[in-house]
Amino acid sequence: MRFAAVVVGFVASILLTFPSLADVSSLLDRADKIRSSDFSGFEALITEIEQSDETLTPQQMHLYNLLKGYQLTFTGKVDEAIALYQSIENSNASDTFKLRALSSLVNNYAVKRDFYLGAKAINRLFDLREKVQDETALESSYLVVAIFYNQAQQFSLGLNVAKQLLERDVSNRTQCFARHVKVEAEFELVKILSDYQYAKQSIEFCKKHNEVLVASIIIATMAESLTNEGRITESLNLLQDAEKDTLASQYPPIIGVFYALIGKNYLLLDQPDLAKSYGLKAYNTIQNFGMSIALVKSLEVLYKATEAQGDYPQTISYLKLYNEAEKAYLDDKKTRSLSFQQAKYEKIEKDNTIVILDKQNALLRTQAELADEQSRNNRLALTLAITLLILLFLWLYRSRKIQTKLRKLAETDELTGISNRHYFNDRAQRIIEQAQQQKQPVSFVLFDLDHFKKVNDTYGHQTGDWALRKSVLEAKTVCRSIDLIGRMGGEEFGIILPGCSVDEAVKVAEICRVAIERIDTGETEHKFKITASFGVSDASLCGYSLERLFAGADTALYDSKENGRNRVYRYNTSKPSLTPT
Ligand code: GH3
Ligand code: MG
Ligand code: MG
Repeated sequence: MRFAAVVVGFVASILLTFPSLADVSSLLDRADKIRSSDFSGFEALITEIEQSDETLTPQQMHLYNLLKGYQLTFTGKVDEAIALYQSIENSNASDTFKLRALSSLVNNYAVKRDFYLGAKAINRLFDLREKVQDETALESSYLVVAIFYNQAQQFSLGLNVAKQLLERDVSNRTQCFARHVKVEAEFELVKILSDYQYAKQSIEFCKKHNEVLVASIIIATMAESLTNEGRITESLNLLQDAEKDTLASQYPPIIGVFYALIGKNYLLLDQPDLAKSYGLKAYNTIQNFGMSIALVKSLEVLYKATEAQGDYPQTISYLKLYNEAEKAYLDDKKTRSLSFQQAKYEKIEKDNTIVILDKQNALLRTQAELADEQSRNNRLALTLAITLLILLFLWLYRSRKIQTKLRKLAETDELTGISNRHYFNDRAQRIIEQAQQQKQPVSFVLFDLDHFKKVNDTYGHQTGDWALRKSVLEAKTVCRSIDLIGRMGGEEFGIILPGCSVDEAVKVAEICRVAIERIDTGETEHKFKITASFGVSDASLCGYSLERLFAGADTALYDSKENGRNRVYRYNTSKPSLTPT
């Protein structure tokens, strides 16, 4: 439809204007403003820009290309215009320039009747729209899309975009065009207009703002609706009132439609002669213009009028032409729709792919986050485990220390640090058993400090304690590491000497006795003598029994005390002859 070319001009005229900074800049600005109103003036400016010495900035170059593309479209070089607009779309031009280029592309594809590529360009246009703030460029892009939708037989979409445009504060020209798209879409969807008032207002609006051609198009739509409703006279009056203005437009497709509609109305009024004459007017206007709805309508009027006239040979030839034109028109209509649907389908597919990719990305992100969190949790768990382990070790260590301490407390005599009676018994028992198994001798020495009560009484309990500690120290010095020394109670001590015969044990006891006797009490600031009496027994006489060894040594100790103290007695079975050393 050549109407699209008119739209190109219109759209180009309402696009951005630029402040004139430099000479070329102002030339570009002026060219942009006048291109639809004064095409020859516009072309002169383009030539002037091309001959200028001034170098264009990149953005000025893009604007120049936009204008050049407009010139190419207007002079019928649609393919060249498309190539230029595509280069702008793929350049580093501003988003506003890119949107303008895309709008022009959609228009040029409509002129070429390439609804597939047009729909694809619309998809890109919609993607870009979000980034553009320039209201004028946005407005013109919406309008291009609305018109394109109607041409692609997508009337619901066209209606929708037209309504969106009409909700905005658009220019009068845009409003006029949007009103036309709305009326046309509403009509095409049900073939009868629901709101004639709105159509009438739109016709008045367009006329008022010098858009006579658009007003004529709306009139044709309204008239067709009236005819369809059977309001023939109203339709005829409407068309005939507007006939003069429409002829003035010199736009064949609309003039053709007008004549064809008038012819159809006469046909319905049973006036085949008038019908035929208008049918011929329509056919003559449109026949060289290529395929259009006007051509189909004119041939329909012609074959029906000649049929009504009884001119059957004519009827047959018009019917043939009508069938061809209708088929071509319907095929074209179908192709438009199919092309559009295909582009739409591809867009949906692409969008779905993007959605799927987005979802996959989201999934990967979630997985990464999960892995991150897992490793964080693992680290946390590890830290916790290590802390717990350290705490456990500390606790174990502490409790072991406490246990050891407790055990030590339970095993040792607090004052002297040697085994207490209970522990001594335990260990002595084992040493004796071991000696018995190994058939080794084992001896037992028991000693008791002499007149110790007197030490306490004379020098005090503390000095007494000191004397006890000092005596034990001397005894321990005499003992080997394998010997076991313990406090039997009070100032009485026992020593188990594994591997020692009674003779050897007596010797040890003697050394011990001397060591105690020689203790220097100067430390206590008192001068006194510490002595101890010893009793020695061994397993060869008493057997491997602690009880009996103890009893034997105790008997000897008693003898030692009885016989003057500070001496060593060995237990002898042939008592009373206990042997003093
Ligand atoms: P003998 O020569 O007959 O053994 O005379 P003794 O005074 O040593 O004997 P006795 O059994 O009458 O007195 C033992 C004294 O040892 C009585 C008690 O006060 C003292 N004693 C016992 N255990 C301790 C102690 O842990 N510290 C002090 N300072 N004295 C103690
Ligand atoms: Mg004593
Ligand atoms: Mg005693």
